[in-house]
Amino acid sequence: MPIDKTPEKNAILFVWFNHYAGVLIKTPSKTLVIDPVDIRARSFSNIDAVLITHEQYDHLDQRLIAEIQKATGCTIIADPASTQRLQHVIPPKKLQEIRPSEKTKVGEVSVKAEKCNHPAIAPVTYIITSEDGVKVFHTADSLPFPELAAIGEREKFDVVFCAVGIAPDTSPETGFEIARLTKPQVAVPYHTNSAAYQHKFAEILKKELPRTTCLIPELNKIYQVSKRK
Ligand SMILES: [Zn+2]
Repeated sequence: MPIDKTPEKNAILFVWFNHYAGVLIKTPSKTLVIDPVDIRARSFSNIDAVLITHEQYDHLDQRLIAEIQKATGCTIIADPASTQRLQHVIPPKKLQEIRPSEKTKVGEVSVKAEKCNHPAIAPVTYIITSEDGVKVFHTADSLPFPELAAIGEREKFDVVFCAVGIAPDTSPETGFEIARLTKPQVAVPYHTNSAAYQHKFAEILKKELPRTTCLIPELNKIYQVSKRK
């Protein structure tokens, strides 16, 4: 899956690479990988940062992250519980803990953590803003929560990833609720191995939120999204 393509100006590329929240995001200058599991370390070559949302097995694989870090020299940004589990395998200078409402930078790309409504120790979601202002919201496997409306209003997202299955209580309906609250330009149903769930999400979205485009991703395929006009 190494992406040799680079996005156009004012755009990002993304790839969904497992049935969970595994997403690679490429901006014109940086490549970020979120929650890599179920993939080989050598699938990633030029990575600047790995972002981890929480400590559960479908999001955190310490051994894999250590391998990726060693091969690429990238920075690891993680929620507190994952940071604790990674501190023995990642050099301290390369490991950054992040909590909801904290912000950091990967070059010119900004990364902000927000709350995550999921039964884990201290989970986070991530707002990634590219150097030319494309806004991506990676909501891990969060259920909807009321603050999403204000976050959406403030950020004006281009892309929001919405969990539609596997995690406790998630469904096409809860995924849609995340889209309804955040009102992105493009909503991406993920965290599922059910195409039926993704299509159900698309159906509800089309009916209830017609101005948001549904992008049903295929695994390991590259998609480009441009900044909203
Ligand atoms: Zn999960």
